[in-house]
Amino acid sequence: MDFQRTLRRSISCAGIGLHSGNKVTLTLKPAPADHGIRFVRADLGGVEIPANVAHVTGIQYATALARGSASVETVEHLLAALVSLGVDNVVVELNHREVPIMDGSAAPFVYLVQEAGIRRLPVPRSYLRVRRPIVVEHTDKRIALYPADTYRVSYTINFDHPLLKHQARTVEITGDGFAEDIAPARTFGFLKEVEMLRQRGLALGGSLDNAVVLGETGPLNSLRFDDEFVRHKILDAVGDLALVGHPVIGHLVVHRGGHGLHTALAARVLAERDAWELVQQPALAPAPSLAAAGSAVSVAS
Ligand SMILES: [Zn+2]
Repeated sequence: MDFQRTLRRSISCAGIGLHSGNKVTLTLKPAPADHGIRFVRADLGGVEIPANVAHVTGIQYATALARGSASVETVEHLLAALVSLGVDNVVVELNHREVPIMDGSAAPFVYLVQEAGIRRLPVPRSYLRVRRPIVVEHTDKRIALYPADTYRVSYTINFDHPLLKHQARTVEITGDGFAEDIAPARTFGFLKEVEMLRQRGLALGGSLDNAVVLGETGPLNSLRFDDEFVRHKILDAVGDLALVGHPVIGHLVVHRGGHGLHTALAARVLAERDAWELVQQPALAPAPSLAAAGSAVSVAS
């Protein structure tokens, strides 16, 4: 039996919003079983916004959630860290509308969770186990979730930039693997788009301290991994798929995705209720449909 988890104690950090440029304080607080991950806008009298795809309102350059007139933005890196480290229940309190970008990766959030510590709760955890493929396609972009015996992600990117013509990676999403291989990968953007973003009121807090910026021939800052870009896309996808509200057992395969495609899949998952089941223990034996997942990898690469 696998049990739900929360944090051992509250912990805070401060930073700026990537898009708003505002200073913000983030506090993670322990929560009881079956509470889930919920954002709280302390500056708006404590309005609660559950981390669920039903509350998605924005998908341009970051994922935003809203309830009534209260919103929280750029939630994906924090959500990726929480679900990958197995934190099922937590209150995420903010005193502004955007989660701080920190260094552009999920590593600072992993550090926060590790510092707070994890506490097991006396209630079983439910996994969302995929039983048949769930697919969303849009022009040449494709995202699919296949049956598998663990949670893993395969991602390929293909941007019109010499460095990003083709990067592909498959990662098993476990706490340690995520913390080492995926969490440190930073947000990236293109120098030629910076001015356009700022005119639209986006990336106002962006700098070389919190994003990899790509010029015509290469990055303006040094990379943490040769393929940091596809690793960051995996990080984004894990954060966006967290909006289904349960830890996933399945193989997520993405080709040229973004927040729009990731959250569209999360919504499709919840709509296709016959495509998955809730189970209280991850399958120990390989799922019979592994062959389907294998063929999906070759389709995407
Ligand atoms: Zn991101």
